[in-house]
Amino acid sequence: MIVHKKSSIITELKSKVFPMSIRPNHYVIDLPFQADDLEPYISKETVDVHYEKHHKGYETALLDLIAGTEHEQHSLQDLIVHNHANPDRRIYNNAAQIWNHNFYWKSLCSAATSQYPTEGLFFDAVITFGGFEKVYTDLLTAATTQFGSGWAWLVRTQDGEITIRKTGNADPVWLNSTDHPLLIVDVWEHAYYLDYKNRRKDHVEAILKNVMNWSFAERQFNDA
Ligand code: MN
Repeated sequence: MIVHKKSSIITELKSKVFPMSIRPNHYVIDLPFQADDLEPYISKETVDVHYEKHHKGYETALLDLIAGTEHEQHSLQDLIVHNHANPDRRIYNNAAQIWNHNFYWKSLCSAATSQYPTEGLFFDAVITFGGFEKVYTDLLTAATTQFGSGWAWLVRTQDGEITIRKTGNADPVWLNSTDHPLLIVDVWEHAYYLDYKNRRKDHVEAILKNVMNWSFAERQFNDA
């Protein structure tokens, strides 16, 4: 647990590190692609339900929770950091899920635009890690071994290396670490159940092989 004094420092840091477009009372980003751009790996129906119902549902719940409170003035990052130790989990859970899903949509792109970089600092870090095949197998392992709901992450560590993490439920990987996220995989059932039923592994294999936004990962790596 982070004590309050450290929280304010981290909040300041996170706000600089993740300058996601935050407008007052509007935390969910616009989808960075068309809802059918991920087909056949993720159906338009899944994207619509995931974005319109789940992601925006977290926002509706959060806005209800913070209405008329001092929290209305806070950024998404501030809401996450300041509420993660709160015994009432509702603000934290909804804010964290909004943040994770903003990052999730940016982590995906159409198969036509999903391409590994072939040079540069991110490419070099991947090679040091063991190559893109190892990134794929380790992300798949993290995603399939996360018990219950949660997230698998490709991150840049403080040492400038890349590695794989997993977190449970709504926890963002950066909250209790110095990891800088590069890509995220949603392993909540709502991310795949309409298309793959219970076959989480099939879903994760399909998206890792076809619709991950490696250019976004590279930009995140270079911005860390
Ligand atoms: Mn989700």
